[in-house]
Amino acid sequence: MKVLVTGGLGFIGSHTVVELLEENNDVIIVDNLYNSKIEVLGKLETISGNSIKFYQYDLLDKEKLDEIFAENEIDSVIHFAGYKAVGESVREPLMYYTNNLISTLNLLEVMKKYNVKKIVFSSSATVYGEQESPKYVETMKRGETASPYGTTKAMIEKMLEDLYASDNSWNITILRYFNPVGAHKSGLIGEEPNGIPNNLMPYVMKVAAGKLEQLSIFGNDYPTPDGTGVRDYIHVVDLAKGHVKALQNSPDGLNVYNLGSGKGVSVLELVTTFERVNELKVNYKIVDRRPGDLPEYYADPTKALKELDWKTEKTLEDICKDTWNYQKNNI
Ligand code: NAD
Ligand code: UDP
Repeated sequence: MKVLVTGGLGFIGSHTVVELLEENNDVIIVDNLYNSKIEVLGKLETISGNSIKFYQYDLLDKEKLDEIFAENEIDSVIHFAGYKAVGESVREPLMYYTNNLISTLNLLEVMKKYNVKKIVFSSSATVYGEQESPKYVETMKRGETASPYGTTKAMIEKMLEDLYASDNSWNITILRYFNPVGAHKSGLIGEEPNGIPNNLMPYVMKVAAGKLEQLSIFGNDYPTPDGTGVRDYIHVVDLAKGHVKALQNSPDGLNVYNLGSGKGVSVLELVTTFERVNELKVNYKIVDRRPGDLPEYYADPTKALKELDWKTEKTLEDICKDTWNYQKNNI
């Protein structure tokens, strides 16, 4: 299958490219390098032993996007490209609405023109908002999103639903990721956040590497077993494999799947596991809760197992080891 991967040099996209090539798909990447580096392309070629067709285009440029479809017989698209920083989206909402929504509209219009009607979209557990139970299942209604970033994901989901309602020859898979972390075992690709990270794992990594002094744990008075926040951390390689399974096994129509492990892990559990498996110390202090954070949520991944034949294989220990291995290689 010839797959166009938008945002294919980013964190999740790059790992997915590796898995797609492993399964003998042809891959074409489009990325504007807004949040990635061109060196990743060479690293992907090293890992896979393939040469990869790459377009440094912005999805906001519809004519350039059209060129890609005119030049290649694309069968399907995995759409990762977008901005993803929650805090930044609160400060710069228009930038987030413009990039995430317009680029998706451009993509869908060009796909329609070229009769390419199979798409896998990167959504997020954030679209659930707050629910009565912390175990999120696809049958729950989308909730109130907590940031413009989350709203762009909910809006794109709705856009895809309306598109499918208008023409049910589309095959649309919406994947709701829980907390993607980890890195490829080669240590060549991983997550490289710009500046001071907002997310837990990149922060832990930088404290362990001595690049940041101390981790702040946001609250230890939540109604959770140790009082710290609970999330479902998923190894990016498991997540990447979920996309390949979605392309292979997603039934006709529009389908939504949670991609998570199904297991809640607390902040303290993650930090102590990181310390134990890597034999190091992560300096931390407990501070106030971060506004907007939910105490606890994790995936019910049953539907993905049943319909896509996918489940996570990697453990929290693997996640911590692979993250540190990547960091050590890139100090
Ligand atoms: P990332 O920033 O590492 O990758 C996104 C890539 O898209 C980057 O390489 C960036 O340069 C590119 N891009 C952005 N706007 C573009 C545009 N207009 N034209 C062309 N390229 C563009 O992010 P990621 O962590 O790999 O996330 C991939 C997708 O998954 C995003 O849509 C994100 O919102 C979603 N997601 C991520 C997480 C997470 O925690 N990482 C969680 C849930 C959902
Ligand atoms: N967290 C923390 N310190 C940090 C970053 C995050 O204690 O520096 C906590 C946060 O409160 C949440 C969990 O770690 O309980 C995961 O946060 P992250 O920002 O990685 O992902 P989120 O689930 O909020 O999108």
